[in-house]
Amino acid sequence: MFAQVVLPLSSYKSFTYSIPARFTSTVWPGSFVSVPFGRRKVIGVVSQLDESTDYQGTIKAIAEVRDEPGALPPDLWSTIDWVSRYYITPLGLVLKTALPLGFSEAMPHKQLHVRITAAGIEARGQLPERAPAQAAVLEYLLRQSSEAPVSSLVSLVSAPAQVCRRLEARGWVSLRKSAVDADPFRQTRIPIADAITLTAEQAGMAESVVQAVREGGYAPFLLRGVTGSGKTEVYLRAAQEVLATGGSVLVLVPEIALTPQVSRRFREAFGQQVAMWHSHLSGREKAWTWRQLLAGRFRVVVGARSALFAPLPNLRMIIVDEEQEGSYKQEDPAPRYHARDVALVRGREAGAVVVLASATPSVETYYNGLREKYHRLNLSERFGGASYPQVRLVDLRVERQRTQNYQLIFSQALIEAVRERLGRSEQVILLQNRRGFAPVSGCNDCGYTAECPHCAVALSFHKARGSLLCHYCGYSATGPEACPECGSPHIYLHGVGTEQVEEELSRIIPEARIARMDSDTTRRRGSHARILEAFGRGDTDVLLGTQMIAKGLDFNRVTLVGVVNGDTGLFQPDFRAGERTFQLVYQVCGRSGRRRELPGEAIIQTNHPDDIAIRAAAHLDAHRFYNQVMAERKELLYPPFSRLVRLLLQGKDQARVWALAHELNARLKPLKKGMTISGPAAAPLERLRGNWRVHLLIKSDRAVDPGGKAVHSLLISRVPQAWLQRSQRGVRLKIDVDPTSLL
Ligand SMILES: [Zn+2]
Ligand SMILES: [Zn+2]
Repeated sequence: MFAQVVLPLSSYKSFTYSIPARFTSTVWPGSFVSVPFGRRKVIGVVSQLDESTDYQGTIKAIAEVRDEPGALPPDLWSTIDWVSRYYITPLGLVLKTALPLGFSEAMPHKQLHVRITAAGIEARGQLPERAPAQAAVLEYLLRQSSEAPVSSLVSLVSAPAQVCRRLEARGWVSLRKSAVDADPFRQTRIPIADAITLTAEQAGMAESVVQAVREGGYAPFLLRGVTGSGKTEVYLRAAQEVLATGGSVLVLVPEIALTPQVSRRFREAFGQQVAMWHSHLSGREKAWTWRQLLAGRFRVVVGARSALFAPLPNLRMIIVDEEQEGSYKQEDPAPRYHARDVALVRGREAGAVVVLASATPSVETYYNGLREKYHRLNLSERFGGASYPQVRLVDLRVERQRTQNYQLIFSQALIEAVRERLGRSEQVILLQNRRGFAPVSGCNDCGYTAECPHCAVALSFHKARGSLLCHYCGYSATGPEACPECGSPHIYLHGVGTEQVEEELSRIIPEARIARMDSDTTRRRGSHARILEAFGRGDTDVLLGTQMIAKGLDFNRVTLVGVVNGDTGLFQPDFRAGERTFQLVYQVCGRSGRRRELPGEAIIQTNHPDDIAIRAAAHLDAHRFYNQVMAERKELLYPPFSRLVRLLLQGKDQARVWALAHELNARLKPLKKGMTISGPAAAPLERLRGNWRVHLLIKSDRAVDPGGKAVHSLLISRVPQAWLQRSQRGVRLKIDVDPTSLL
C-alpha cells in the first residue's frame, strides 16, 4: 500500500510513501504521519491511499503514524482540499494556514495560569477605579474556585497577560506556568449560564434554526437583523440545542477585539466549553488550543477568519456574524480565501446548519437569499422596543455656499445637535473614515504633491507626529513646513482626517471631551479597550473615529451619530465602493438610540446627497439599495452575476512586469464560452512598496459556468505551474479568485 502525503511546503505535489505493514490499519486520509524528507523528518497529512504507484524513483516508507494529535475530522480535510482547488493554491500552503502546528517540532509547551491570592480576595473593596481591566479579571477570579489559564481571560480583557502581570505586581494574584495537558475542565468551575431570554420574534427565528439542527444535514440560513435586534440571542439558543445533542458549534466574528460582545455572551452562556481563536494568541497557545480541539475538549469555538479551520469533531452549526465584513477575506498570503464562502463549503461537508447574519449583507449573499439558496429569517424589531433613529442628510455644498466657508467641516445642524446632546449629558459618535490630519498636501507655487517614494499614493499629513505618512507601506518623512522642490513655504493641505475633525470640534466646542479612535490611537495593545471603556463609563462625550467605531458597539447613552463626510471611499475605483459606503453609513447610524427612553438621531453630511448608497443608507432603505446595485452589476456582469478572477503581477522592473502580463494575456486566449478578460492594465495602486503592479481581470458568466469549473480549468491548463510557485524574472503572479479589492 502507498500513501500520498502532503507536506506543509509551497508545492502542488503530494509525495508518495510506502506504508509498512504495521501501519496499514491506522493510516487514513487525514492521518498525521512522520516521513523522511531530505535529511529531515517532517510531519505531513495523508491525502490519499493507493494500491499501486507508477512513481519511478526511490520510495521511502512512512516512519511513524502520530497518535497525537489524532486525525483531522473528514469534513475539515475535504474543506482544506476544496480551498486548495478553488483558490488555486498548493495544498501544502493551505495546510500551513489551516493547521497551526509548529509542524516539525513536537513541543510540550507550558501555559500561564493565574489564581487569586488571599490579598487579592481582601482587595475586593479597593479595586482600582481607573483600572477596569484589572477589576474585571479580579472579579472573574473571585468567582472561580481554582486557577484559570491566562489566555482564557481574553473574553474579558484584550491583553490578559499584561493585566495579570500588573495584578501580580500588587500581590493580588499569583502566576504559574504549568504543562500543556492541563485539563481546563478540571481547573475552572463552569459558570452558570445566564438564562437566554428571547422575544417572541427571536424565539420564532431560533425555533427555525433549532428545527434544522434537529433534522440534521446541511441547511444554510440568512439571518437579517439590524444592529440591536438581538441576533446573538438567536445564536445562543440554537447553540444550546446543538450542544444538548452532542454536536459542536463554530462562531466566526470579524475580529474578536472589535466584537467583544458576541464572544463574551458565548463565554457567559457556555463557560469553559468555549475556546477563543484570535490573533492575540501566541503560536504556542494556538497549537495548544488546536490539540485540545482535536481531542474534543471544547465544544464551541469563537474566532476570527482562520477559526474556520478549527478541528471541531461532530460540527453541527457554523455562524458567520456580520458576514459582509471585509476581514473575512484573506488577502495575503495565499490561500486568498473568503471565510464566509468556505464556511458554506464546510457546512455542506459536515452536514451542518450555517447561519450567515447581517443587517447589511454583501450583495452576493443578498442575491443568494433572493434566489432562495438560503432560508431567510428577518428580525425586524429592535431589542427592548427601541425605535430606529431619525436620519437627516446635510448637503455640504449648500452649507458651504450659505456660509461662504469652503473649508467647512461641520455644518450648523451637526454642531447644534452635538451641543444639544452634551447639554443633556448624552453621548455622540462621529465617523470620519480617514485617519491623520489631511490626506493630501503639496506646494501652491510649483505644483509639487507629497507622494510616497515607494507607492503611487499621496502621503497623509499627521499633525500629532509632525510627519507625512504612507498608509500603505509605512514610509514617513518630516514635513510639510516647506516645499522640498522649490523651498516655498506656501504649503496647502487638502482633505480631512480624524485628527483635523478632532481639532476643529475642540475649537468650536472647547468643553467637549473627545476620544479619538483610529489606528494611530490604538497602536498599543489594550488601548482599544481602554478608549471604549472610558466612553462607556461616560468619561468622554464624543467618540470620534474611523470605521472601527461602527462595529458591534453598544452604548446606551449615545443618541446622536454624525457622519462627518459620508462620501469618503465612495469614489474609489472599485465596483464595491458604493456597497461598502452603504454598509458603513447604515451600520454607524444604527449606533444611535439603543434605548427606548432615549430616541436617537443620525446626521449624514455629504457632497452627493443623490448618490444611491448615501440616500438608501439615510432612508434605512436596504431593499432599494440592493435592487439598484444588482441591476447595475447585472448589466456590467459583475458579481454575483459573474465569477471574477484577478491575476496580479508585481515586480520592481516595470518593463518586465508588463512583458509578463502581455505573455499571460496571450496564454489565456482563446477564452472559453461566457468569459471576458480585461487588461493587462495598471492596477489603481500602480506602485506599492516599490513594486509595479499590473493586473488582468477575468469575468466568467455564472449563467454559463455556475460552478466555476470552466474558469478553473482555463487557469490550471494555461498558467504554467512554475509561475504559481515562484517569481519569474523577478515578477510574481498572484491569483485571486473572487477578489474583494481591485485596487
Ligand atoms: Zn514648490
Ligand atoms: Zn508607501
